[in-house]
Amino acid sequence: MNPFRDRIFTAVFAGSAIASTIAVSIIGWVAIHNIEEAGVKQQIDVHAAVVQIYIALVAICGIALVFCYIVALFAAGRFRRDADPILRAAQTMAAGDAHARIDVSRDDEFGKMAEWMNALADRRASLLREAESQQNEVRTILDHASEGIIVIGESGRILLMNGAARLMFHAPPDATGRLFVEVSRNAKIQEFVERVRDSFESLQADIVIDEEDLTTFRFRGSRIPDPGGREVRILLIAGDISDLRRLERMRIDFVANASHEIKTPLSAILGYAETLQDDPDLDAETRGKFLETIARNSRRLEELVRDMLHLARLDSAGGAFQFDSVSVVEVCESAFEAHREPAKKKGIDLSMSETLGDLKIIAERELLYQSISNLISNAIKYTPSGGKVTLEASAGAAGVQIIVKDTGTGIAPEHLARIFERFYRADPARSREAGGTGLGLAIVKHAVLLHGGKIDVESEPGVGSRFRVSIPFEPPK
Ligand code: ADP
Repeated sequence: MNPFRDRIFTAVFAGSAIASTIAVSIIGWVAIHNIEEAGVKQQIDVHAAVVQIYIALVAICGIALVFCYIVALFAAGRFRRDADPILRAAQTMAAGDAHARIDVSRDDEFGKMAEWMNALADRRASLLREAESQQNEVRTILDHASEGIIVIGESGRILLMNGAARLMFHAPPDATGRLFVEVSRNAKIQEFVERVRDSFESLQADIVIDEEDLTTFRFRGSRIPDPGGREVRILLIAGDISDLRRLERMRIDFVANASHEIKTPLSAILGYAETLQDDPDLDAETRGKFLETIARNSRRLEELVRDMLHLARLDSAGGAFQFDSVSVVEVCESAFEAHREPAKKKGIDLSMSETLGDLKIIAERELLYQSISNLISNAIKYTPSGGKVTLEASAGAAGVQIIVKDTGTGIAPEHLARIFERFYRADPARSREAGGTGLGLAIVKHAVLLHGGKIDVESEPGVGSRFRVSIPFEPPK
């Protein structure tokens, strides 16, 4: 079935048939008119002549019709041969074949049409290439964005979800097309999406995903304008602000803990000072005891402030530290010597072994000294009289290892993960009694990290503890 070709056939056939009929009619009319005139003049048998002419005219009409049919058939066939390649190519192009082109060797209207169609196909291919490259660009940008980007359709299905969003929601790679409520089952997020759907303004909300570890996402949501007004699509942008929240919590906790730590010795100092002031007749022994308490609490305050300043310096992005070539053995020996007397006084056997010789590393001498010193001081503090504290220094492939071992109280497993936190104490009473500030290990951890190293601990209650510091030969750039 080819309606166009059929129409050409019908037009040519009908045209030529009408033309032949008109021509035959005119010829017939002229002939009959002449015969009638001749009849009037009595020259011929008019009736017989007219019948013959009619027969002749019908025969001529028949022949003309057959001839017209053949001409129309030929014209339609010719048209079909010319048009078919163009139609076929157009069909292939329409089916999406970007490489299909029409032969343009002809010089007539069909050739022109083919040329324009090829130009159209070229333009379409270049637009497609452009659109594809733009799409790739957008996809790359979306997948490298640190914020999660999600587009949700009217039905609640995900139309787009970038890599960051998939990570945030632990969504599978084929999340697109699924219902958003299946991917995020958090009621607060769903409620936020509904609010965005009903609002003509952009909305923002911080939603806590996990109360325990303070995982918090900041959502911004808005409706995507649709000129057709057919579908309400929603754009959600989610940023992970958990670190910010944790820092905020740490800062609040730190201020609360520091205030509490300062308040206790300060109250003691104030109380005893006021008593001394109010009662000038106190006996010398009581006065001496009071003054001793004031001095002890003042020292405690001083140590606390010193440790807090130390931490503040470490916190301030490296705090202008001077890294130099440092002999690890020399620093270990200095820390060991500084604790020899206190250890002896407490009846603790303090010993040191090293296999480093004069090996040097790039380090901040003061921080290294302070770290080793803190570890030895803790070991002595938490080891009862008669116990043993050992300091070991050795070299490995990647750097040096400093180990401080004791046969002290040990640390219960539930405290091990937290003892490097600021003001965390496994045994608060013992720590305070021993004059601890609760900041020593936090300072050591910070200092070790600043050198690109790490610290770990193994401990068994009632048996002892082993702190191991590993520091690379050179800090990271
Ligand atoms: P502190 O000033 O209280 O000693 P640290 O930050 O140095 O504070 O240590 C944190 C906590 O870790 C201590 O309160 C103590 O409970 C525990 N700890 C540290 N070192 C040892 C150790 N060698 N043996 C037993 N417990 C320790």
